[in-house]
Amino acid sequence: MGWQDVKEKFLSLSGEQKSPNCETLENIPTWKTYASIKKATLPAKKQTLSDIVIDNSKNEILAEKISIYIGDITHLEVDAIVNAANKSLLGGGGVDGAIHRGAGKYLLAECKTLGGCETGEAKITGSYQLPSKYIIHTVGPVGEKPGYLRNCYENSLKLALENNLRSIAFPCISTGIYHYPNEAAAHIAAGVVRKKLEEHADKFDRVIFCLFLDIDTNIYESILQSYFPLK
Ligand code: ADP
Repeated sequence: MGWQDVKEKFLSLSGEQKSPNCETLENIPTWKTYASIKKATLPAKKQTLSDIVIDNSKNEILAEKISIYIGDITHLEVDAIVNAANKSLLGGGGVDGAIHRGAGKYLLAECKTLGGCETGEAKITGSYQLPSKYIIHTVGPVGEKPGYLRNCYENSLKLALENNLRSIAFPCISTGIYHYPNEAAAHIAAGVVRKKLEEHADKFDRVIFCLFLDIDTNIYESILQSYFPLK
């Protein structure tokens, strides 16, 4: 069997059929619920970047369109998980390595046909053995280059929209091996997601910030209070 047949086979299965212990969307609290449960222990709110203008009329609906998920992105049953890949798209360390290990060898076979990916761009493949349906591979910048990081989030969300994918999970792109400062990266992520959801709230069920390190949990808990304000 070639990767095309294997891809079709896995796309016909549900996440739970592929991976019985996966995390389904119903079990991942929305930001509104998460913040109310954790109210007493949330860190102090931090303001948005100064160039972000928030349409406050959308606050209520958008607080239920995003989530913080603390853990491994390969466990998520969503329409798409985003991979912080490198330009070759042929696998690597960190989240990229975890995704390739979990998806299996046919992911690499499909990736080989894509001709790599430029920094800030995004390409889509199947998820194979992972519980998600698709993987959106994006290449973050090495070091703090906000324009490129913004492009990663924008192009990933654009691909999700083009493919009618309603739930998507992002890792903290570039903040690992590529050394983007965590807090600066989180502001870019939250700002782009806020603006895209303001434009297309009806097209998404959930955008998940998948956090793997305590430092990112603290940062997202503090800044999401201003990017996705709650009553
Ligand atoms: P980059 O090369 O873009 O910096 P890395 O994979 O090194 O990518 O790191 C990006 C982020 O992904 C880091 O916060 C890292 O802790 C996190 N990470 C690593 N493994 C996983 C995983 N299995 N699920 C979710 N996030 C992960």
